[in-house]
Amino acid sequence: MPRKNATRVKKSAPKKAKSKSAATKKPAPKKRAPKKPALKKPTPKKPAPKKPARRKPASKPAAATVRPPSTRAVAVPKPGTVPPSAGVSPYSIPYHGAPLGAHVSTAGGVINAPPRAIDIGATAIQLFTKQASQWRERMLDAADARAFRAALAQSPVAFTNAHDSYLINLASPDAALRAKSTASFAFEMRRSNALGLDAVVSHPGNFMDDRASGIARNADAIIEALERVTGPTRLLMELTAGQGTVIGSTFEEMAELLQRIPAALQPRVGVCLDTAHVFAAGYDLAHDFDGVIARFADVLGLHRLGLLHLNDSKAPLGSKKDRHELIGLGHIGEAAFRRIMTDLRFADIPKVLETPKGEDMVTNDRRMLRLLRGFAIGR
Ligand SMILES: [Zn+2]
Ligand SMILES: [Zn+2]
Repeated sequence: MPRKNATRVKKSAPKKAKSKSAATKKPAPKKRAPKKPALKKPTPKKPAPKKPARRKPASKPAAATVRPPSTRAVAVPKPGTVPPSAGVSPYSIPYHGAPLGAHVSTAGGVINAPPRAIDIGATAIQLFTKQASQWRERMLDAADARAFRAALAQSPVAFTNAHDSYLINLASPDAALRAKSTASFAFEMRRSNALGLDAVVSHPGNFMDDRASGIARNADAIIEALERVTGPTRLLMELTAGQGTVIGSTFEEMAELLQRIPAALQPRVGVCLDTAHVFAAGYDLAHDFDGVIARFADVLGLHRLGLLHLNDSKAPLGSKKDRHELIGLGHIGEAAFRRIMTDLRFADIPKVLETPKGEDMVTNDRRMLRLLRGFAIGR
């Protein structure tokens, strides 16, 4: 997810509201016509969600005022009620690779994430454990964590990760901001451990003054947080697009950052490769896929790769701009994603989309996941 790009961050929240208001205005949102009644879905385990809490007005004031929750049901099927005959479920495509999914909304609480994952056909999800654009921490009560784990255990989702807050800057030269960031980051690790998430994805910070000092500060803050919070959740540092003074847009710089983590903590740390970020940073996945991956393997080591963020890029090669696009519609193009979905080196690496959601938060993701699963079998 783009951290620096505040507009994108803000966009995603109002977008929800927008889609809702759209749903209220439109008298008859298109119903998805069941297309191929013959197509049988290989019925994924359904978690029989008690109440699709997504329809709760929740704590989002905007959402609550926009529309009565029930109208949404017209556009979006309830979790687990996607008709097998619809032929649109991404689960209907045979796929035996590592967990594959998308960033899903936790509006109304983390408990809403598993049913949303099922709606889009995900076996991997990324989520925010709090409002990513605010400092305020969300306290997680034990019952919520238990309910989340239980719902997850009954879902087909096999990989989960959190993405940390956009405000966190572990590399800041401002001691107060860095302390605040480190505390917030530790909270994130704590919540993620409580939820049993596999990983937390964190963007390296902005060095602001001096690059080398920034890298050192960022590493120190990571060490502090990892020492303070123990648990099974791994930390995956995400390669960045390189805008402004952000750290971690080259494989070398990421390696430098990670080398500063003591050996005892190394098993708890890895890398998240975002295709849009590395492309914008200048790694040409479109025309030199093998070269880029070879470089990653040389400099960072494929053993460090813990997650792939699959995003096409609206911004051109080397633009240093973090702008995600739907798969196949950006400057990276379809071929690189076909490679990723069929390359044995990535067979065990979880893959998560952060592509534009569109109006209803479901249709685009479903389409993207079907597309990717199709790539995996040469479609
Ligand atoms: Zn990303
Ligand atoms: Zn991004």
